[in-house]
Amino acid sequence: MKSIARPDIQRFQWKLESCREEALRALVRLGSEARYLDVDSPMDSADRSVSHLVRESLYQLSSQCRDLLRSIEAALERIRQGTYGICEMCGGDISPQRLEAVPWTDCCLRCQERTEQRRGEEALSRDTRVAWRRTA
Ligand SMILES: [Zn+2]
Repeated sequence: MKSIARPDIQRFQWKLESCREEALRALVRLGSEARYLDVDSPMDSADRSVSHLVRESLYQLSSQCRDLLRSIEAALERIRQGTYGICEMCGGDISPQRLEAVPWTDCCLRCQERTEQRRGEEALSRDTRVAWRRTA
């Protein structure tokens, strides 16, 4: 199995580190916006529902950010272990183009597509449950 050249690994590491910085900054920003929304202020119910929506999407964004951070940390760890660029699911090589586009990825395109398909099905059944709860 061919491994990625050292200079490339170094470049990916820098890239990952700057992504981590960015994600951390975004998390801090999201955190302070959420706190701002928590301040008790007299609002009519329309305002309240808007602020609820905003809070919900802030929450979603920050949990996405945290997921991303976890993936970035894991990728940096793989660089340290010397397993960067190897698919965690099938053990094959992850294509350099894919690593350029998604440097924190831990699986090859084929495995990714398979997982996404599975996740899509889960999301679908989750949506159905939510719809069911709304009508109940
Ligand atoms: Zn794979």
